[in-house]
Amino acid sequence: MTTPPSSPPPLRSPEQLGGGPGRTVVVATHNAKKAIELRRVLAEEGLEANVIGLDECHPYPEPAETENSFEGNALLKAHAAALETGHLAVADDSGLAVDLLNGMPGVRSARWSGPDATDEANLQLLLRQLADTDDEQRTARFVCAMALVTPDGREWVVHGEMLGRLVLEPRGGNGFGYDPIFVANHHCRTNAELSPAEKDAISHRGNAVRALIPALRAVLEETL
Ligand code: IMP
Repeated sequence: MTTPPSSPPPLRSPEQLGGGPGRTVVVATHNAKKAIELRRVLAEEGLEANVIGLDECHPYPEPAETENSFEGNALLKAHAAALETGHLAVADDSGLAVDLLNGMPGVRSARWSGPDATDEANLQLLLRQLADTDDEQRTARFVCAMALVTPDGREWVVHGEMLGRLVLEPRGGNGFGYDPIFVANHHCRTNAELSPAEKDAISHRGNAVRALIPALRAVLEETL
């Protein structure tokens, strides 16, 4: 028995899709680099979507990152963005987990030295906490949870990691946060000495974006 070909679903106008041309994905962040990164990965995968950041959406009260897990915070941000914008929403939460510190700074990575912390102050505090430790004791990993939420509330979460170790002398001018003291496994340069493309290829966030592709493909194809 053969199955009759199903007729294609009717095309929807940009208005029906939420105002943007084509299929829109909101990246729930004000960091333009994250939207650019998702745009590039989707293009590499042949997935057409209009990727926008929160600076391109109407403002709404954004939830504080109150959860104790990367996954919880990513879901919080993605649900708020999907609800408020009516678009597919992607959000991530990431940080550095240091083995000697039982996984800290973890979800507190951005505010490790206090509520108004800067990247430099956080890095210097971590260096003081790691003073007098041996090279082999300073193992650490960057962790990223990335959530995808549809406007009707369906959710997916994936994880990405980058394993490595910390050095006590910061090196390099690229990247941000703890990059100048993190050396990924099988590398000798710090993350801050890698080019953006070299870092994306091995990073926790790059790995998470790539892991999210099947779910993104499935939900984007629903809108065809
Ligand atoms: P976010 O969730 O991407 O905003 O990251 C939270 C914090 O984790 C940042 O403020 C950094 O301190 C740290 N972090 C996350 N990803 C990276 C990275 O790729 N390199 C360096 N630090 C990072």
